[in-house]
Amino acid sequence: MTSFCAPAAHAAPLSESLAETPKDPAGLTALRKQAEQSAKELEDATKALEKRRSDIAASEKQLKDKLRSLQTTEQQLAQVRQPVSQMAELLYEQPVGADGIAPFVSGDAGAGTLRAMTDVGQIVAERQQAVEQTSQLYTQTEQLAAQAQDLRASNLLAEAQMAAEIDTLRQRSDKIVKSLTDALVKLGIKIDKVGKAALGCNPLQAATANDYPNGLIPRAMLCPLQQKGFMLRADATIAFVSLNEAYRRQFGKQICVTSAYRSLSEQQSVYYRRPGFAAVPGRSNHGLGLAADLCGGVQNPGSAQFRWMEQNSKKYGWFHPAWAYSSPFEPWHWEYNPKIDSVL
Ligand SMILES: [Zn+2]
Repeated sequence: MTSFCAPAAHAAPLSESLAETPKDPAGLTALRKQAEQSAKELEDATKALEKRRSDIAASEKQLKDKLRSLQTTEQQLAQVRQPVSQMAELLYEQPVGADGIAPFVSGDAGAGTLRAMTDVGQIVAERQQAVEQTSQLYTQTEQLAAQAQDLRASNLLAEAQMAAEIDTLRQRSDKIVKSLTDALVKLGIKIDKVGKAALGCNPLQAATANDYPNGLIPRAMLCPLQQKGFMLRADATIAFVSLNEAYRRQFGKQICVTSAYRSLSEQQSVYYRRPGFAAVPGRSNHGLGLAADLCGGVQNPGSAQFRWMEQNSKKYGWFHPAWAYSSPFEPWHWEYNPKIDSVL
């Protein structure tokens, strides 16, 4: 058996060590999922807080509007009240008849006096009404002001609680991402902290890589493999690192890789050099960062390495596609499907 990357390792009998192979020795896939989940929770909580803030702003505006319209009514009432009080002052200065109400009591009340008395009654009634209305409005205003104050206080409290929750979620998310980052760094993957994607790969950006066309995924969306010079989509890399660790335990060396992510121009150059041996540019899973071509024995279907891969790679979301067994025959071509590793 030959291989063009490295001599095939004729390692210890497979059956024994296979049973001992842990599911995910590095625990990376589980960690990545936790990190994604945690990042999602943080995002949801932040959205909820923003929604809550806009609800609060709306309810406070409603209260302010109510208070403003009450003030307007109060002012109108004050205007109504003004002539009444002026008339009352006038009456005080020019009492009803020279003897006050005496002529009425003694039965000497003239028509003029009676009219004046009616006016007084009218004025008193109107004044009374205005006073009642004013006091009603005053009570209402006071109630609304108290309500506004309560609302403000409870809103502030709710906001503080939500902000504290978000802080906890952020800390948890940061912690998980740090564990994942540390684990990857320990295994030789150069990675940067989330949020500084331009400086290195971001282990949580797998989903957003879907927004880019085949072969045009920005470097920051891809993560380097332990195998120097090769990159894959972040989730595929993390799964591959786990697969590689299991493979290393089995064969004492890491998986040999000849090709992983291929940019559109790389796909074109491969295609034009060997048209029958490469997918049409823009259609290859290599351009999605989800395929790797392997060597070191894996390229030979009968080899121990190929058989080990067939039996174990699915645990890490990696598989040998059905077409690659025959048309075209590409035993070296392996792919990653996040749906497979989501059932892990
Ligand atoms: Zn391939």
